[in-house]
Amino acid sequence: MSSLNHLTAVEIRRRVAAREVSAEEVTRAHLDRITQHEPEIGAFLCTLPARALAQARDLDAALARGDAAPRLAGVPVAVKDVLDLEGVATTCGSRILAGYRPPFTATAVRRLEAAGAIILGKTNLDEFAMGSSTENSAYQLTRNPWDPMRVPGGSSGGSAAAVAAGMAPISLGTDTGGSIRQPAAFCGVAGLKPTYGRVSRYGLVAFASSLDQIGPLARTVEDVALVSSILCGWDPRDATSAKLAVPDWMISLGDGVEGLRVGVPWGFLERGVDAGVLTAFREALSALEGAGARLIEVALPHASHAIATYYILATAEASSNLARYDGVRYGPRRGGGGSLDRMYGDTRDHGFGAEVKRRILLGTFVLSAGYYDAYYLRAQKVRSLIRADFDRAFETCDLVATPTTPTPAFRFGEKTSDPLQMYLADIFTVPANLAAIPGISLPCGRAEGLPVGLQLLGRAFAEATLFRAGHAFQQATSHHQATPPGFA
Ligand code: GLN
Repeated sequence: MSSLNHLTAVEIRRRVAAREVSAEEVTRAHLDRITQHEPEIGAFLCTLPARALAQARDLDAALARGDAAPRLAGVPVAVKDVLDLEGVATTCGSRILAGYRPPFTATAVRRLEAAGAIILGKTNLDEFAMGSSTENSAYQLTRNPWDPMRVPGGSSGGSAAAVAAGMAPISLGTDTGGSIRQPAAFCGVAGLKPTYGRVSRYGLVAFASSLDQIGPLARTVEDVALVSSILCGWDPRDATSAKLAVPDWMISLGDGVEGLRVGVPWGFLERGVDAGVLTAFREALSALEGAGARLIEVALPHASHAIATYYILATAEASSNLARYDGVRYGPRRGGGGSLDRMYGDTRDHGFGAEVKRRILLGTFVLSAGYYDAYYLRAQKVRSLIRADFDRAFETCDLVATPTTPTPAFRFGEKTSDPLQMYLADIFTVPANLAAIPGISLPCGRAEGLPVGLQLLGRAFAEATLFRAGHAFQQATSHHQATPPGFA
């Protein structure tokens, strides 16, 4: 194995820019690593070796001519297969998109490529990003590098496993209710859900449009900050993208946490948190305190309703977004027997998996004429209350800290028969999507030998505070340096 697989994006870029190593060598090292470990991990739905090597060689040639090195020069990136890359299949982990090749590239991916990043391939996920374990993919299982009998989390399970296994220093995920932060926690890597509106969703296949955000996974907060500085920014192609300047977050990264007030919502954490997770969380809080932060208690009185609220709003939006997969505009057409309705029915019955169908049914129900007020409208009101909880908390603190998940990675099959148990894996991550605020998950210790995540939530557009605190935490601890057994 090449030592290049353990370099951070910052270090790869430095060495490529200094021409100590070529982008081609870096790319090859990661492609080799994928070949070596894919049979046991299953992180990728497709790899793009020829495309990646051609990109790397072009970059090397440009640097040889004396061009300035862009900010992600030679940094390999794995992309969740819900983001479009022109001419390359996008499956969303679903049979219904089999054979679909988008004629355009997602803005997020385009920005990374424009900064010199090398796209290695597309990663596995729960079908249409619906799930918490990647077990809902129509194509394959992804295994947690820390324990092959356990899930990597989801829905961005392939992206998290790829970084944990040293296959890519950076990956892109999407987070509608926790799908970046939860798999990052399960796989022992860092993952950011930016503020809603920070990253353009153009070229992202929609799940729940008012909640979806794209964000990076990496080993260090420094890498997360670097990639975010490039990923974020206004895009005329996404009307919900924020017309706000994006700071260079690398500059404020080292500002430390002296005097920063970290709010802990103990009332929300009372029930159902695994003892080992709680121990690691308390130790993480002590480390932040040791670095100069001040701990206070805050209340999030409506957060306990977040899961119920999320599963009304997210399914309502999904039922509308997924109506387009009808065998006409997208999807391998099935059956029909001469009737248009039956063709829609057969195509969707065959193309969608059980979880996606469950959500389309639920979402259609909560939007139906007789039930709209009782469910959808009420959930919108609770969403406002959850947002107001955070507004109030942020009057007294600068960050809110929780464990990212109530338990470490669970075993395959452990929650598949009970969707509600699966949904509860996101109890601590979902509130941030409902409130549209940013959140980061960082490895903060182990429980039963498995990684545990610390989640930090900030005010809308205050990513800088998350990065400062996260970086200070990583300076004070070494959890982010741990590699899964067998992946050193
Ligand atoms: N696990 C949650 C769900 O199944 C969140 C998914 C996500 O963030 N994409 O909806």
